[in-house]
Amino acid sequence: MPHALVLGAGIMGLSAAWGLRRRGWSVTVVEQDVVPNPRGASCDHHRLIRHAYGAAEGYMRMVDDAYAAWDLLWAEAGATHYVETGVLALASATGTGWMTASRATLTGIGRPPEPIDAAAVAARFPMFDPATVAEGMHMPRGGVLLAERIVAALARRCAALGVAFRQARVTEVDPERGRLTLDDGDTAEGDLLVLAAGPWAPRLLPGLGGRVAASRQIIVYLEPPERLRQAWASAPMLLDRGTTGVGFYGVPPVAGTPLKIGDHRFTCDGDPETDPREASPAERDGILTLAATRLKDFGHYRVLGARACYYDVEPEERFILEPLGARALVMSGFSGHGFKFGALLGLALAQAAGDPNLTAGLGPWAAGRAPAPAGLLAALSGARSN
Ligand SMILES: Cc1cc2nc3c(=O)[nH]c(=O)nc-3n(C[C@H](O)[C@H](O)[C@H](O)COP(=O)(O)OP(=O)(O)OC[C@H]3O[C@@H](n4cnc5c(N)ncnc54)[C@H](O)[C@@H]3O)c2cc1C
Repeated sequence: MPHALVLGAGIMGLSAAWGLRRRGWSVTVVEQDVVPNPRGASCDHHRLIRHAYGAAEGYMRMVDDAYAAWDLLWAEAGATHYVETGVLALASATGTGWMTASRATLTGIGRPPEPIDAAAVAARFPMFDPATVAEGMHMPRGGVLLAERIVAALARRCAALGVAFRQARVTEVDPERGRLTLDDGDTAEGDLLVLAAGPWAPRLLPGLGGRVAASRQIIVYLEPPERLRQAWASAPMLLDRGTTGVGFYGVPPVAGTPLKIGDHRFTCDGDPETDPREASPAERDGILTLAATRLKDFGHYRVLGARACYYDVEPEERFILEPLGARALVMSGFSGHGFKFGALLGLALAQAAGDPNLTAGLGPWAAGRAPAPAGLLAALSGARSN
């Protein structure tokens, strides 16, 4: 039986381990921290999944396959860790590039969004202030993936399938020999290495040649005022594009999780190993300012906390799923939009492992530049639900 070593137990490493084990590999996951890892890019409570993707049609088209991959996991794990909320996108100026491009590409794939104006916001979404709404759109499909619960469920599923877990810090990677050196001085070898180090990738994998950077991102948790709590309980996720197209996102408080806001701008700065996890007051206030005009009665929201997370950014936000050396496959560059594709990418990587033709097509597909090569998504046959 071929053996795979997976470095990293975030959503990417675990999904790859799941896919490889399902394809008959023996698999060991090496992770420096606990699983789920509160320092990893894959955890806190939630991650969003939605079709609206600006002009990035390749990723927009992958979303239905992503849903099918999650359905497969829900069936195997015996629980669904997803809450459908729908998607509301608002802008304070007309013609912002992202809104226009999203509308065109969504219409192109047969999912035209419903136009929303200020009057519709006032009537249907009382938690948002319609005063500065210049244009908007609503999509019923889209929602919240309960990230931490998914990572925990996936780890359990992997263990049940026979995946081994080893807690150790990898200090060196040899992609030619398929070898990892661990901090206790031990080494481990596999026929295949899957390198899914998240925001630690730039410090661990010089072979990536500076193509990804770790980026410190701030998120803020809020408690809505009493009179808006019921409205928030059935609220859509909010993609707010502000006046220039750069705004913030809001995750509604579903399934016992808090309301969360964050922004779309990368800092491309910071180190997940050494930098603090606390957000400074200035960082927290920077996020609050973005939301202040859009959330009605903003002065009555209670700030529950603010923290820093790190993710790994490729300059065009394109994922890297590529061979490195003779025996490794790298999963990197997932920035702020990779989680939704985690299960899908893991299954695809497992299908391609050991097949040079599929491996050649894996990278362009994962980068959103080309359709999936025939056979890459074989695991999904029968799992598509939409
Ligand atoms: C605040 C925030 C909001 C986001 N919102 C969304 C969203 O709405 N929708 C969406 O689709 N995506 C979103 N994302 C992006 C998505 O969550 C990440 O891109 C994805 O989770 C990355 O997963 P990963 O497995 O690559 O990384 P990680 O989860 O970081 O996993 C990497 C693991 O590798 C381990 N590791 C690293 N180096 C070593 C070593 N030397 N030895 C041993 N172990 C090591 C780490 O400990 C870590 O556990 C968001 C991310 C953040 C941070």
